[in-house]
Amino acid sequence: MTATSTSPSSDARIALFPGSFRPFTRGHADIVERGLALFDRVIIAVGVNAAKPAADGEATADAIRKLYADEPRVEVAVYSCLTIDFAAQCGARFLLRGVRSMKDFEYERDMADINHQLSGIESVILFSRPEYAAVSSSVVRELESYGHDITPFLP
Ligand code: ADP
Repeated sequence: MTATSTSPSSDARIALFPGSFRPFTRGHADIVERGLALFDRVIIAVGVNAAKPAADGEATADAIRKLYADEPRVEVAVYSCLTIDFAAQCGARFLLRGVRSMKDFEYERDMADINHQLSGIESVILFSRPEYAAVSSSVVRELESYGHDITPFLP
């Protein structure tokens, strides 16, 4: 999608689910599914930066789009600006995030706090389901680098 396809003045409850999604795991998919019960629409926003080139971001976004081809309430976008600025462009008044551990919790709390201070955006943080608490993109990447089958971790 383009950021302009959503009118910022819309009353729809739109949540932006930002992340690097390298790769998009079952843990991420669970957050999206649960987010759909809370919001009218969820925009999965793949962040690109110096560490993740735009081409990789587009490939990630295409793969996620295929997963949600039959779910019109999910959109997928690639962005390279500040997350709160992209949320504003999309008309998203909520950020959707997940936490698996105390370490995640402290990071997410600090981010939610700073984002709220900067823009007033509300972060909605969901606790991971126990079965996904150990699933992280970095572990999946490492397993893949050793040739291990990673399909059990992917949606
Ligand atoms: P980031 O680099 O922004 O942390 P990630 O792609 O690693 O991006 O994660 C995006 C969001 O999804 C983060 O809020 C992260 O805590 C959450 N998340 C990642 N894995 C899981 C999981 N297994 N269960 C629940 N939430 C998760």
